Amino acid sequence: AATAASVVSDPKTRIDALRKEIEHASYCYYALDAPVLSDAAFDSLMRELRELEAAHPEFIDPSSPTQRVGGYVGEQFAPVRHAQRMYSLDNAMDLDELDAWMERTLDAIGHDTQFVCELKIDGSSISLTYESGVLVRAATRGDGVTGEDVTANMRTVRDVPLRLRDAGIAGLANADAMAEVRGEVYMPKKSFDALNAAAEANGKAGFANPRNAAAGSLRQKDPKITQGRDLATFIYAIADERAITAQSQWELLQWLRDCGFHVNPDVELCDTPQQVRAFCERVAEKRGSLPYDIDGVVVKVNSFSIQRELGFTAKAPRWAIAYKFPPEEKTTLLRDITVQV
Ligand code: NAD
Repeated sequence: AATAASVVSDPKTRIDALRKEIEHASYCYYALDAPVLSDAAFDSLMRELRELEAAHPEFIDPSSPTQRVGGYVGEQFAPVRHAQRMYSLDNAMDLDELDAWMERTLDAIGHDTQFVCELKIDGSSISLTYESGVLVRAATRGDGVTGEDVTANMRTVRDVPLRLRDAGIAGLANADAMAEVRGEVYMPKKSFDALNAAAEANGKAGFANPRNAAAGSLRQKDPKITQGRDLATFIYAIADERAITAQSQWELLQWLRDCGFHVNPDVELCDTPQQVRAFCERVAEKRGSLPYDIDGVVVKVNSFSIQRELGFTAKAPRWAIAYKFPPEEKTTLLRDITVQV
C-alpha cells in the first residue's frame, strides 16, 4: 500500500493520503472488527506517516492518527468516560530499539532500576471497575478517553471475578473504594479455529485473527452471543495505583492474583537490561507453542514512584515499551487497499 509514495512528491499530499488511509483501516479494524489491511501493512503506513511528520513538523496535527490512541466508540453501547485515560504502548521493533529504550530510561532515572517483563497478549483492552469489591462496570478502551460499556458481556466471561476475594480486598488502600483494573480479553487459538470453522460451515465470514475475534465477540449487542464464545482474560494493570497498597508492578501482579484475577504466569522481575533481553529471546522461541496469540513482550519500570516521575505522552506511558516480534502474517485473505491520490 506504500507504493503511492513513489508517485507523490508533495509531502503534504502524501501526509493527508496516509492519514486518510490509516483512519479508514482503523475504522474497519476497531469499529467493524474486520481489518482491510494486514497489521504489517498498517504498521508500515504508520511508520511512514510518523517519519514524514518528523521531517515536516509544520504539518503536525493533534488529530493525526500518530497523536492518538487508536480505537472507536460504537453507538450500540453506552459511552463510558474513563476516570483515568487508557493508553496504548510505544513500540520497539527489534532488540536494538529495546536496548536503546532501556538505556534512555535508565539515563532519565539516573540510577539502576528493576523492570518487569510480561507477555504482550494479542487481544482487546478491557477495564473492570469494582465498587466495595463487586464488579459494577466493564468498558473497552475506545479512543482512550471514552470507552464502550460492555458490562453485560464481560459478566459472561468465566474467569472474571464478579466479587474480589478477601485477600485482594485486604490490599486495597480503602476497602470501600473503587478499584479499576485493566487487562486483555483474548480468544484461545483453538477456540478461534473452531469459531471460524463453524462460521465457514454456515457459509458465513469468519474473523481475520484471534484478536479481531475477541474484540468482535466482546462487542456483541446480545450478551448470549458473547457467552457462547470462549473468551478469557489476563489482567495486568490498575487505573490508579493509589487505590492499593502495592508499590510496584511486581506487587500489583501479586495483588491481582490475590483478588482472583487470571494473571499470566510468564512474568519476570529483571535487575538488568541483559535479563530483559534474555526474557524476550526466550519468549520469541516458545511463542508458537502458547495456546493464545502474543505479539511481543511488554517491559515496564517496576517501581510506581519512578513510573509517576516518568509519566505519559499523549499516547503511551514513558515507563513501558512493547517489544514487538516480527509479524507472523498467516492471513492472506486481507484485501490490500491503495491510496487514491
Ligand atoms: P498495541 O495493541 O500494539 O499495544 C497496546 C495494547 O497492548 C494495550 O492497549 C494493551 O491492551 C495491550 N497489552 C497486551 N498485553 C499487555 C501487557 N502485558 N501490558 C500492557 N499492555 C498490554 O497498540 P494499539 O494501539 O492497541 O493497536 C495498534 C496495533 O493494532 C498495531 O499492531 C496495528 O498493526 C494494529 N492495527 C491494525 C490495523 C489493521 O488495519 N490491520 C488497524 C489498526 C490497528
